[in-house]
This record gives sequence, structure tokens and C-alpha cells, in this order.
Amino acid sequence: MENNMLKVYAVCEKALSDGNLSKEEILVLLKCPEENSDIIFQTADAVRKKEVGDEVHLRGLVEFSNYCKKNCEYCGIRGKNKNIERYRLNKEEILATALRAESLGYRSVVMQSGEDPYYTAEILADIISAIKAQTDLAITMSAGEFTYEEYKTIKEAGTDRYLLRFETSNEELYKKLHPDSDFHQRIECLHILRDLGYQVGSGFMVGLPGETPEIFADNLLLLQKLDVDMAGIGPFLPNSDTNLAGASGGTLVNSLKAVAIARLLLRNAHIPATTAMGSLDPKGREKALQAGANVVMPNVTPEEFREMYQLYPNKICLRDDPAHCRKCITGKIQGISRIVSKEHGHSLKVKKEY
Ligand code: SAH
Ligand code: SF4
Repeated sequence: MENNMLKVYAVCEKALSDGNLSKEEILVLLKCPEENSDIIFQTADAVRKKEVGDEVHLRGLVEFSNYCKKNCEYCGIRGKNKNIERYRLNKEEILATALRAESLGYRSVVMQSGEDPYYTAEILADIISAIKAQTDLAITMSAGEFTYEEYKTIKEAGTDRYLLRFETSNEELYKKLHPDSDFHQRIECLHILRDLGYQVGSGFMVGLPGETPEIFADNLLLLQKLDVDMAGIGPFLPNSDTNLAGASGGTLVNSLKAVAIARLLLRNAHIPATTAMGSLDPKGREKALQAGANVVMPNVTPEEFREMYQLYPNKICLRDDPAHCRKCITGKIQGISRIVSKEHGHSLKVKKEY
């Protein structure tokens, strides 16, 4: 057997019981040829089973506004994109969407938007308090960067979790892709969220232009250093409305490797099989669930708004209603001998109390 494959097997063997992989060991896995990568996915699947079991947590995704004041180079809803129609859901519409999600059996929703100045922390707090008063849903917010005081207001209204990807661990690359954001500020936000008692989610995109294997490995190590409760990882999918339209984007195998290695490093964190993964490959989410993932985030945004929230092209399920999505995803999960969880899916990290 080739020397390199012996190394891959040795790292996988170690990772079954020990998540402290070095950067060199991570690079061995990242450089493993595609046709031999199944061993990495199988190892991550075994660690997933041991650490978080067979249950898959569903979170209903509510895309409540596609207005954004920022201009991240990769994103289809960046403020300067004049080719899309913009929308905002009001309090009643968001509440109705959350109630519908709960009636479909969801125990948790993720409220996501661009950085829309209309929704101040006070307005968000008011909406969240209303959802909390009328449902038993766990709530994740994913609406970008706020100040300490603003995150505090949003937390005190009852928000359980916050999802804020760092996108890339490389400061220089971060700067190139984010004309109006600062890498250190982004990381500071993650520390603030942790201090305020949120369950913290972060992550990155796979295959951003300028990503090297070293940056890829550092992305994974940064997730481990931040000790995230959730790790959201998906391929970068070039959007034709952006300057990165001609870039090549992330591949399925690299995205699956990222999920798998994140499982090896993070052990009992929640890891979604992201929609971007499903948009890249019809079986992308199932493959991710069999390579370390244990969460799926089906879209519950009302049908009439879905087409307008396209961060990347070819997004799946654009025309499916929430009831259909719920049934479809349950079928996919059961089809790979897994179980849809009936719990809220809170963080499994023992160091915190929820
Ligand atoms: N505005 C918030 C949340 C919405 S964007 C924020 O930026 O945090 C949610 C995620 O979509 C981003 O974190 C980014 O990782 C992802 N995304 C944006 N454009 C993308 C693209 N072209 N391909 C894949 N993922 C993309
Ligand atoms: Fe706005 Fe988020 Fe898109 Fe950046 S990634 S442009 S902050 S919606």
C-alpha cells in the first residue's frame, strides 16, 4: 500500500478515540485522493454515532429578510446587487411562520437574514419574545454582527443560539472577500456570544477563491479552538450576480471531508448537512449525514419569498411548501436508517448548563 494511504489509515485509527489531531494530520486527510476518501467518512460516521447517536435534529429555517447593508463578495443578497427583489417579513408573518413550523413538528427554528438595519435589536427582541410566548421552539438567530449590548438584548428576549460563520480563518483572505467587515471584529462577536450564554455556531465555506490546504486545515482548527456548539460548513457556490461568478467553487468531496474532519475534531458538536451541500449534489445532505453530520435545516420560509433569498444559485426546494419539505426530509433521514429527533437539539457540550 502507498505510504500516504498508510498515513491516512493511521490518522483515522487515532481519531476514533482522540480528537486532538495536529495540522499535519489534518493535511494528511485533506490530501487523501478522492477515490480513497471513504475511510475518512466512515471514521467520522463512527465517531458521530458514538458521540451524538443516530438522531438527526431538524431546524426550520426562516429567511426573514434579504436586505443587507454589507457586500461580502460571494453573496447573492449583498447590498449592491441590484438584480434581486428585496423583501422583509413583518412580526406577524414571522410569528405565523414559526407557529406553522411548530405545527409541522419542528422543535427549533433558525431565523436568518442579511444585515438589515430595519431590524434593530429591540425589534428582534420583540419578535423573539412573541415566538417564545406562543411556542416551545428553541430559537437560533443568524443575522450578522451586533454590539455587545445588542446581542444582550436579543439574548434576554429568549434567543437560545446564534450562528455566525467566520467564513475563513485567514485574515488576508477575509479582508479580500469582506470590503466592509473586519476579521478580528467577527471573532470578537463570537466571544461576546459565548460570554452572553448563547449556544454558539460558526463555520466556513469550502473552496473560496484563494483557499489553500493550509487555510482549509486552519479553518477546521479554528472551529476546534472556538469550541463551537455547532459547526456550519458548506461549499462556496459562485453566484452569477457577483464578481466571483467565474470562480470554481467548492467540491462535494472537499465539503464532505470538511464535515468529516470537523466531526473528528469537535466530537459532540452539532453539525448540519447544509442546504448548500444539497444544492451541489442531489444526495449531498444524505452523504454529509453519513460523513459526520447530525442536523438538517429544512426551509420553512413562506413559498412566495424563497426565490428572493438566494445567497448562491440552484438552491434546492425553492418551490416546495414547508409541509412537503418536512415529509421529504423525514423520508431521506429514515432512508439512511437514522431517526428524526423529537427533542429541541440543544448543545451536548457538558461544560454548560441549559
Ligand atoms: N447575514 C448573515 C447571515 C446570512 S448569510 C451573515 O452573513 O452571517 C449566511 C451564510 O451564507 C454566510 O455565513 C455564508 O457562509 C453563506 N453564503 C453566502 N454566500 C454564499 C455562496 N455564494 N455560496 C455558499 N454559501 C454562501
Ligand atoms: Fe450580507 Fe450575510 Fe450576504 Fe454578507 S453573507 S452580504 S452579511 S447576507
